[in-house]
Parts: sequence; structure tokens; C-alpha cells
Amino acid sequence: MTTTKWVYSFGDGKAEGAASMRNLLGGKGANLAEMSNLGLPVPPGFTITTELCTAFYDNDRQYPDDLSPQVDAALAHVGKTVGATFGDKQNPLLVSVRSGARASMPGMMDTVLNLGLNDETVLGLAARAGDERFAFDSYRRFIQMYSNVVLGVDHHNFEEILEYYKDEHELTLDTHLKADDWRDVIARYKKRVTEELGRPFPQDVNEQLWGAIGAVFGSWRNARAETYRRLHNIPESWGTAVNVQAMVFGNMGETSATGVAFTRNPSTGEHAIYGEFLVNAQGEDVVAGIRTPQSLTKKARLEAKDNKASMEEAMPEVFDELIAVFARLEKHYRDMQDVEFTVQDAKLWMLQTRAGKRTAKAALKIAVDMAHEGLIDEKLAILRVDPASLDQLLHPTLDPDAARDVIATGLPASPGAASGEVVFSSDEAAAAKSEGRSVVLVRIETSPEDIHGMHSAVAILTTRGGMTSHAAVVARGMGRPCVSGVGSIRIDYKAEQFTVMGVTVKKGDIITIDGSTGQVIKGEVPMLQPELSGDFATLMGWADSHRRMKIRTNAETPFDAATARKFGAEGIGLCRTEHMFFDDSRIVAVRQMILADDAKGRRAPLEKILPMQRDDFRQLFVIMKGLPVTIRLLDPPLHEFLPKTPEEIEQVSVSTGIAADKLARRVQDLHEFNPMLGHRGCRLGITYPEIYEMQARAIFEASIEAAKETGEPVITEIMIPLVAMKAELDLLKGKIIAVAAAVEKEKGTKLVYQIGTMIELPRAALMARQIAESAEFFSFGTNDLTQTTYGISRDDSASFLNDYMAKKVISQDPFVSLDTEGVGELVRIAAERGRQTRPDIKLGICGEHGGDPASIAFCEELGLSYVSCSPYRVPIARLAAAQSALSVTTERDV
Ligand code: PEP
Ligand code: MG
Repeated sequence: MTTTKWVYSFGDGKAEGAASMRNLLGGKGANLAEMSNLGLPVPPGFTITTELCTAFYDNDRQYPDDLSPQVDAALAHVGKTVGATFGDKQNPLLVSVRSGARASMPGMMDTVLNLGLNDETVLGLAARAGDERFAFDSYRRFIQMYSNVVLGVDHHNFEEILEYYKDEHELTLDTHLKADDWRDVIARYKKRVTEELGRPFPQDVNEQLWGAIGAVFGSWRNARAETYRRLHNIPESWGTAVNVQAMVFGNMGETSATGVAFTRNPSTGEHAIYGEFLVNAQGEDVVAGIRTPQSLTKKARLEAKDNKASMEEAMPEVFDELIAVFARLEKHYRDMQDVEFTVQDAKLWMLQTRAGKRTAKAALKIAVDMAHEGLIDEKLAILRVDPASLDQLLHPTLDPDAARDVIATGLPASPGAASGEVVFSSDEAAAAKSEGRSVVLVRIETSPEDIHGMHSAVAILTTRGGMTSHAAVVARGMGRPCVSGVGSIRIDYKAEQFTVMGVTVKKGDIITIDGSTGQVIKGEVPMLQPELSGDFATLMGWADSHRRMKIRTNAETPFDAATARKFGAEGIGLCRTEHMFFDDSRIVAVRQMILADDAKGRRAPLEKILPMQRDDFRQLFVIMKGLPVTIRLLDPPLHEFLPKTPEEIEQVSVSTGIAADKLARRVQDLHEFNPMLGHRGCRLGITYPEIYEMQARAIFEASIEAAKETGEPVITEIMIPLVAMKAELDLLKGKIIAVAAAVEKEKGTKLVYQIGTMIELPRAALMARQIAESAEFFSFGTNDLTQTTYGISRDDSASFLNDYMAKKVISQDPFVSLDTEGVGELVRIAAERGRQTRPDIKLGICGEHGGDPASIAFCEELGLSYVSCSPYRVPIARLAAAQSALSVTTERDV
């Protein structure tokens, strides 16, 4: 019989695994193995593989028979290494049990410490450590943690018992409790567990171990983990690993400690150790925010104006050793690391290392610095930055000159600024977001249950917790501004308000959060537009030298066009001319044109619109000097420009001088049952050719003016929307060429331009070979192409697509990230067939997908010439295009 290897041992300077086995061992397990192989001090242990997790679920939540002997053997080996035995009364081995998926995954069962303690082994531990208090403190922690995370007994039960006990005995701090106190508390804890569960707390250490292992695997499919996976596109099939490791104790007195650290600052990227530690404590004390942690370095302590000794001062030798380990880890992994460590009786132990999560600002700085330091090359630096995260840097910041009514200051936990209405619950945040409102989520602290609320909020504020608290870490990962630990704020959840320095802020009031300074400000503060400079500009420059595709922008206003150029756009890929029609100064003429009875009646208002359109185009051509500009002729159905309600009709009647009843009739005539599939796009141009003729004239005349103004030739591309048939394009192309000829004659100049089409209907994609005979370029309108391929209305999809995602019918909103299998297949077909007719045909994309990194990778695969996206996404697209061109799967941590 063949057996599968489910268990991999590590520790004692060697390991069966390695960092390269991340898929099998999970991130934590693979790195524990790697650190062991590097000879770093890692407490011995073993990893049960992610394959076992898959086998467990495939087999109706049963373990394979060959697992238990492998666990027993590995556990015995750990015991042998540390000189203790699991369950032994005299000399018990204690272990921690932790989850460890491929990607770090909040929401799953995290950690159980001190496992292996019971009423008997606790005495052995006390005798071996020579410290009864320590042993009973460890035991009560274990009961509390195990009961909560494995047995599902709410932790409030234990907090309540402990608080009550302290009150009863007039003790204020946990450290005031002596061994006998803990004995007493333990008895009460156990009694409560029996009451809650109807059975006693397990005394059998093997039952404890398998209970914890089962809890880790079970938590892979809990609701919180599923939400997290959905938000981060982590496949369920990956599974989690379980790590069982010999305990080391940070709570063994004043020469013991526990801490967390980043090898560089995860907020700014600065090359300085960043972290916290606690003397005489266990790991969860740092994260839980019960005691205020101390600084690692003296410099950080002085900056924080803290008078408690830093680790550098309190434990100089161990600190030096830790610094040496950090340098070793950075050199080995060639990336910033996030580590956990414990000092037991002046001996350093490493418990975890992983690539540290960081803000976009830090990611840029670290990538650029590491390239300069020679740790990585330019290509790796490009791959190190998540393009989507740049969004954080492309948003406005608070205007430094604007007045600020600062009501409190906390920790600058995640940079960026935002204003929104105050809400106090995550459900409310999510509900407000779906109504399109911006909210700031205000909580005492956050937990994995708040992920959806944090995602829905524009910013997060907590009154408790440090820079490594849940709120801070998750907010940084999500790119939400966050201020944490604002101790001066008192939240009253019941009254739905908070108070600070005599100010009361109620639910719905607007506040502004500045995650870069930690300020909490009453009301809204004016913001400044972002700049692309420093490390950002350096990395963008590197990206540009490695990308093949051009990046254009979707813009119709001079402001958007100028912003996009500032961000590096190389032309306009889509100018939606209808947006120019809605302008106050021209809507009257547009309405008169629509309401006219015939072509003749339409000409006069079109004459009024012409100079305005011409000036719009001239400005765009000037801003885009020397770069291509694609102008799309009118697309939406005409009724979009007309009034709807009787009051609006009355108003328009006054402004246009057209009788209200005539107006109402025309609105009625233009009514459509399915406007998205109705009289729009090139169909308008065919019915009302004079509209497209006016637009073509405006474009040509503007191009002549702009060329004169700038001294550069204008690269004009005229684009026809919603073409399904070559004949449509031919008819309209003929009219545009005729206008061009007329303009050339009038102005005595030769015009250079191209006429192309959008490919945004399945028929157009299929008929691309024929359409390319007339079209000089294609631009994929993947918004409409997604709508028409799925038969899902882009305007109505929100009401059910969220449900589709929750029920796993689809994993991604196809309007956000291109459905490469289905819609993408049509794009592929159109590209191939278009090239058969016109081998060098220019191909681009201008749907929303043009700014989505995954979709950009697909465009690279098809060899498109450019992607076009909204101005603020241009830098994201530049980086994503470079990464796609380097065509290496990024090594980013998810
Ligand atoms: C598209 O359909 O993808 C497109 C870019 O056009 P619009 O969004 O204006 O319909
Ligand atoms: Mg479209």
C-alpha cells in the first residue's frame, strides 16, 4: 500500500520542507522550514500539508488512515529534540497549533498556544520551570483560547470571570494574580466550559491536539474565510496547512519577551526596523492590545515619547542577534519581512517570517531602494508592486492650507485621507455603500467579522489597538486610510455617537480621517490632487522601459485629459462625445436638434453646436499634442437628452420655446423598451446623418486649428460605435470622407486621419474579417461586449451579480475584470480575424477593463497595441502592462 506524506518536520537546523514548497506547506510552514534550513533558531515542529485539507474535505471531513501515525512520529521527534514528552506528567511537551494557508488569510482559526496542558501536566510544567504562577497562567490562557477557538465558547465568558475575580479580590492588573489566584480562576473557567458545552474541558492531550487540528481545517470553510477568499480571489481548492510547534515561552519572567517586527517600515517603506515587543508576555498579548507594547529601538521609543525601555535598551544582546537575523532574512528572501519572535530566558526564537504587507507608498520605496541596494533587479522591483494598490497614491490628500477642526489624534495606521458619514457597525457600512454613500467606520476595535464593513468604508477609525492591530493591518492591505488607537474618543454604540473633548459626533455626521498624520477632523476638508514624483516616478520609468503596450486614457474634458497626461497617458483611446452634449451651454441646442421635425430643422441647432464641439476637440488635441486622439461619434439614445417628468418638460419648454405638449409627445415617441439595445450608436448616425457630419466637421476643423497652434500634426482617429455590420460602417465612413474632402477643399489643407470602429457586439467580433476591410482600427468596447455576450444589462447587473458571487456562480464581476474565457474569446476571435484582413491593424481596448490589471495581462497576451482607461488608472495600467510584458507570475503575497 502506498502512503502519502502528509507531515513535514522542521527545526534543529534542518527541515524536510523549504520556502519553495509554499503550495504544499502553506506560507507559514514553508518559511519555518526555510528558516530552519538557514540555521536560524526555530522551535522544532511539523506541518500537516494543504493536500491533507483537500483530502479531508473530499472525504466527507474524515482524515486518511495514514495521517495519525505520521503525526505521532513527528510529535515524538519534536519531543526528542526538546527533551520532553507530549502528555508527560513530569516533563510535558507543550505545542502551539497554527493555521497556515498559501496566502495569509485573516478569518481562519489562527492560533492555539500551550496545548498539552491539563490538571496534571500543569504541575510538571510548574516544577520544571520552577515557577507555579507561570504554569497556571499558561494553563488558564490555554483553556481560554482553546475553548474559544476550538470549542466555540465565547471569550466574553472568560473575560467576565476574570474581571469578576479581580474585583472580588481587589486586584487591578493580571500580573497581580498569583499562582493560587490562577488556580481558582482555572476552576471557574472549567466550570463555565462544562456549563456552556455540557461536557468538561478535555484533559486528554491527544484529544486536545486533534481538536485543534480539526478546528484549523474546519475554519478553512467558515463564512469569514470565504468572504476573505472572495475579496482576494483565493481559490477554495488551495486549502490550508496546520503547523504544530514546540512552545517557547515569552512569559517566563523579565528575561523573556515576545514581539512582532517588520524589517522595514510597512507604512513609509523607510529602511528602519519597525515593531513592538512586550516583556513577560505571550504572542497574543501584543496583538490583542491588552497591554501597551514597547518600542524595539531606542529611536522609536524617543519618537513615541515613551519612557518604558526599548528592546534595544532592555535586552541589548538579544536585540543585536535579532537585527542580525533580520539582515539575514532580507538578504535571503530579498524582500521586506514581517516576523514574530519570542525570547525565552534571554534566548531568541523565530516563530514566523513572511513577506510583509505594506502600503503602496512603502511598496514603491522598498522596491526602488532594494533595487538601488542591489538586493533585487529592476524587473523584480517592477513585479514587486501590486498595480491595483497604486490606487492608494492616486487619490487626493488633505489640502495643507485648509482649516482643520482636529478633534482627536491617534496612530497614523494606514495613509491617505477621506471624508464620510460616521457609522458604528460593519453591516451599516456595507448598507450605506450599496446606497452610494461614503462612510467612515468607527469601532472600538475591529475583528475579522468586520472585513466587509472595512471594505465598504472609505476610512476606518478605532479607539483601541496599535500599528499592528487588526484594523491597522487589514486597512493597510485594503488601502483604506485608518487612524487607530484614538484613546481619547469614547464610543457609545447604543446611543450611536462618540464623544471627544466635549464634542459629540453622531451617526451620519461627517468626519475626515487623515491616516498619514493620525488626525480625526470634524466635517469635510478640501483635498489636493495627487502628484507622480519620487519613487513612484522612478518605478514608473522602469515600468515604461519594460512594457510593450501603449497606455491611453478615456477622457473628454480638458481637465481629465491633462490629468491623464500628467500620469503618463500616451493619447486618448476614447473620447465619449455625448458627455460634451450635456453641458449647460449647449443642452438647449441639443434638445432643439432632437425635437426638430426633419433633417432641415436639425441643421440650425447643429450649426450652433458645431463651434462648441470644435473647440472641445481643439483643446483635447492641444493637450495631447502629437499623441493620437480617438474620438467616438455620438452613442447614446437621444431620449437620454430629453426631460422626463412633467415639471422638467415644463422647464425645457420654457428654455427651448417648444410647446410642452409637443415635447411630451416627442419624449413619448422616443421611448424605448430596451434602450441599451435600441436606437443608439451607429444606428443614430444612419438615421440622422447630419449629427455625425457635424461631429466629423468639428473634428477636422479642430485638427487644423490645433496643428497650427502646436506646430505638431494631429493624429485623428474617428471611431464609430456599436457597429454590427460592415455595411453600417461603410455607409458612415462614406459620409465622413465626404466631410473631410469638403473641409480639405475649403481650407486648402490635406487631412490625415483614420476611421475605425468599436468592436462591442458579438456579431462585430465574428464578422471582424469583413469589418476590417473598412475599419482602419478596432477598439474593443468590452462594457457593451460583456453586456451583449452575457445578455446582462450593465445598468441592472448590481442587483443580482453580488448574489451570484456570494453563491459562487461566478467568482468575479465580469464588468470589472474581463471574462477571458467567454467575452475574451470573442476579443481573441476579432483580433485574429481582423489581422487576417489587415495584418497591422491597430487594436486597443477602451472598456472599463482597460484599467484592470488582470484584463491588461489578457490584452498583452493577445498582442493589443494599447489599453485605454480612466485618468487615475493610467499609472496602474502602466505598471500592469510592464508586469504582463515581463510575463512572469508576480511573486507578490496575495
Ligand atoms: C464599451 O462599451 O466598452 C465602451 C467603451 O463604450 P461605452 O461604455 O460608452 O458604451
Ligand atoms: Mg459601448
